[in-house]
Amino acid sequence: MKVLVLNSGSSSIKYQLFRSEDWVSIANGLVARIGEPEGELRHAWLAADGKEASSRESCPIPTHAEGIDNIVACLRDTGSLADVSELAAIGHRVVHGGSHFKEPVIVDDAVVEAIRDVIPLAPLHNPGHLSGIEVARRLFPRVPSVVVFDTAFHQTMAPTAYRYAIPEYLYTEHRIRRYGFHGTSHYYVAKRAAAVLGKPLNTCNLISLHLGNGASATAIRVGKCIDTSMGLTPLEGLVMGTRCGDIDPAVLIYLSKNLGLSTEQIDRLLNRESGLLGMCGVNDMREIDRLAAQGHERAELAIGVTVHRLKKYIGAYYAELGKVDAVVFTGGIGENSAKIRALACQGLDRLGIIMDDEANSATDSRGERCVSAPEGAVKVLVIPTNEELEIAQQAMTAVGLQ
Ligand code: ADP
Repeated sequence: MKVLVLNSGSSSIKYQLFRSEDWVSIANGLVARIGEPEGELRHAWLAADGKEASSRESCPIPTHAEGIDNIVACLRDTGSLADVSELAAIGHRVVHGGSHFKEPVIVDDAVVEAIRDVIPLAPLHNPGHLSGIEVARRLFPRVPSVVVFDTAFHQTMAPTAYRYAIPEYLYTEHRIRRYGFHGTSHYYVAKRAAAVLGKPLNTCNLISLHLGNGASATAIRVGKCIDTSMGLTPLEGLVMGTRCGDIDPAVLIYLSKNLGLSTEQIDRLLNRESGLLGMCGVNDMREIDRLAAQGHERAELAIGVTVHRLKKYIGAYYAELGKVDAVVFTGGIGENSAKIRALACQGLDRLGIIMDDEANSATDSRGERCVSAPEGAVKVLVIPTNEELEIAQQAMTAVGLQ
């Protein structure tokens, strides 16, 4: 059987097709600029000879329905999916499940309503997800759609971790609390970290750091999330590509009162124009690294603020957990930047976090690996994330086939 994973945004759909026998990804791609005069379709697949092949095409894609039709036609034409009946499930990534969803669920009308109900909490994401889900249900009524939520893994947080110190009614009537995101990634790397440590996940205490364009830290006690750095929205916490992360809320009041900025302008400023980009004009860590090496002061500062914040979270989560088996790095930066890993762990020897500089900076190493020195009580692991695979496997479990 096969599992199709869809990540539907407001104007794009990313997909990946897995073979469930061995969980090999046999096709992936993207439909972009849905609803614009010229849409884009990118497709990559494993050909019959086992080699990778790809195609790229431009054509109008008026709606999500045409987008998904195009994807299925591509899968059929390239032999990746001979017939839709080969699909055991379609797994949909959904950013926000509010407090309703603690695990993946098979989509029915009530689930659609519950996802719609949290649109005010994720106005940029949930409407696009819903379009993809509704089209998939309509086009493939016999294939179960399963939704996997970015928030689900964090639902084990206690109120002490998820409540903000604001008046009670804002929580009870308006659901303002911390939810956390990147949950599928944190859960996936936690499971893989447990495998690398050779222990069951439910005996592992971990600090997991997902450092990509978006970035978040999670404290995991005996396999369950007890705290995470993102909050009501993915803006809180670590320094990110274009998001500021933690900030004194009074800055927003200041921006409004003294600079006359509207809520839309503040939203844009903090979500799209801040973070690494705001500090040094670039949001690609590779470029920032290059600039810093040339003595570019703002690039150096951007790295410094990023690392300072990371260290604060490692320390805070260490204190919450008491004992830590491993610090896990993942995401584009976490997996690839030896420098950020080294700086974030620098000076933490007394906590048992001791890097093996050679292992950490080995350029020929890829994949899951330990980069800490044997004498350190806390392992430092690099675990490439694979959210699509996790969604595919959770979808398979939800339909009772795994
Ligand atoms: P997204 O959150 O969009 O999925 P990724 O997880 O792909 O993002 O991470 C993107 C970030 O990873 C970018 O800042 C990019 O510069 C960084 N990155 C990728 N490769 C490297 C590398 N070799 N060294 C440093 N940073 C890297």
